[in-house]
Order: sequence, then structure tokens, then C-alpha cells
Amino acid sequence: MAVPFRKTSKTKKNQRRAHIKLRVPGMVECPECGEMKLSHRVCKACGSYKGRDVASK
Ligand SMILES: [Zn+2]
Repeated sequence: MAVPFRKTSKTKKNQRRAHIKLRVPGMVECPECGEMKLSHRVCKACGSYKGRDVASK
């Protein structure tokens, strides 16, 4: 089996992984109240979705 000639350096390994980040996916700012919310979900803070208040009755 072919084996890499040189060991991958810490620098090269880290450069390769530079774009892999720890982050919560699908978080957007609510246009109504500015709170962070999951996209395509009703805002937990103000209960709005697509500019309308859907949580209150
Ligand atoms: Zn909101």
C-alpha cells in the first residue's frame, strides 16, 4: 500500500482544517426583535414568523 512520503506537518494539517469551524448551524437574526433564532422557525423571543405575529392569539 502506498504511504505518504512525509508526515503532514501541524501547519499543513491546521491549514487544511481552517475552514472547519465550530458553530451552531441555521442561526439567523430575527428581523422583528434582533434576537438570534433558528431559521425557518418561529422566533422564541417575540413569536413572529415571516413578519407576522403567529404565537399570540
Ligand atoms: Zn423575534
